[in-house]
Amino acid sequence: MIENLTLVEELKALDKKHFIHPTSSISQQQEKGPNMIIAEGKGIYLTDITGKKMIDGMSSLWNVNIGHGREELAEVAKEQMTKLAFNSCFSSFSNEPAIRLAAKLAQIAPGDLNAVFFTSGGSESNDTAIKMSRHYWLLKGQPNRQKIISRSKSYHGVAMGATSATGLKPFRDFTNSPSPDFYYVDGFSVEALRAKIEQEGPETIAAFITEPVQGAGGVNIAPENYFKEVRAICDEYGILMIADEVITGFGRTGKLFGMNHYEVAPDIMCFAKGVTSGYAQLGGVMFSDALHQAFIDLSQGTLLHGYTYSGHAMACSIALKNIEIIERENLVENSKAMGSELLKGLQYLQEKHSIIGDVRALGLMGGIQIVKDQQTKEAFHPPLSPKLVSEAEKRGLIIRAVTFDQDTLVLSPPLIIKKEEMNKMIDILDETFTVIEAEIN
Ligand code: PMP
Repeated sequence: MIENLTLVEELKALDKKHFIHPTSSISQQQEKGPNMIIAEGKGIYLTDITGKKMIDGMSSLWNVNIGHGREELAEVAKEQMTKLAFNSCFSSFSNEPAIRLAAKLAQIAPGDLNAVFFTSGGSESNDTAIKMSRHYWLLKGQPNRQKIISRSKSYHGVAMGATSATGLKPFRDFTNSPSPDFYYVDGFSVEALRAKIEQEGPETIAAFITEPVQGAGGVNIAPENYFKEVRAICDEYGILMIADEVITGFGRTGKLFGMNHYEVAPDIMCFAKGVTSGYAQLGGVMFSDALHQAFIDLSQGTLLHGYTYSGHAMACSIALKNIEIIERENLVENSKAMGSELLKGLQYLQEKHSIIGDVRALGLMGGIQIVKDQQTKEAFHPPLSPKLVSEAEKRGLIIRAVTFDQDTLVLSPPLIIKKEEMNKMIDILDETFTVIEAEIN
């Protein structure tokens, strides 16, 4: 039956029939099939199977920091895979790429986060952080410290613990199975955090988890002193501070890690995405010297937490090369420099277009709030950002709409982006807004 169809039609039909997409609208897929079947990537560009070339204004999922199509990474992958793709790191087995990567991460991470537990991605990292913080309190003889506090509008992933910690309620409502011992505080209010701690009882709280800049919540940037005050409150009550640097790590915000902006070191730090720029599936959790020492001193028997792919040799070798490239090409500095171009561009658009409310950016993580009215910030119902996304796409720019909280467009181009390419992105956005505003009026 499929024989007469073109390749695109064939792939679309197979996609609809067999491929359940992550975080996607199933009804839309069944109606239209996949919108873009991506075939190639080079630098900041993606090309689909029909030959349409687009700027990857999201670094795919905030993660392809060094850009697409790096042959150096293909070479490293081939070399390592030929030698040893994988071995178990359970028990006392190890491998050189995992050991070298752990040491490299210790060298570049904030504070005294010197020991790492490897995972395959962000969700597993946050589950690990939650479980290990509870385990820590068991070892310390405080078994009642089980509760996890996170922030409303936060996103921490889709594993059970990570979803439970996610403040964006639709993700939790998806299974209608509220988890006990997870609590949420609003926005950037340290008073709300203190009140929640007091209300629940500090002696029952294991950890507070937070993204340095909220991503899926709409690129929400903390006020300058927020994390210093959070750190102080956590210390005051003896609560562990977990930073979810899954998006913000490895240069995304114009510093190597998001918490570097605030000069705060968490007790536990989760990472994924940018550690390999998406060239392999890898994440991890870093622990402070004090926590690591407590595990060394107090652990008995087996640490009963580990993924098959913890310390995956090939993934770790890719991460090492990826970090080398970030350092060699000064991509953190470029992220900072291009980040200020991005913010300037967004401010220019805001002045020009009446449906733009707030604009914000830290490094190459930007957000544009879409409003009916710039003064009142009244929102469109239904949200307008999905329409803006498809208009931008027609003009060769991939961006993303997040509508869980505000109606927001988010952008996070690869850290290798050049000034001309940034200008092009802003030009496409400018045209997109002009077209949509004309349509509305
Ligand atoms: N934490 C944050 C802040 C994220 O943005 C994401 C993914 N977008 C995750 C955790 C989950 O990571 P993963 O999808 O790799 O499981």
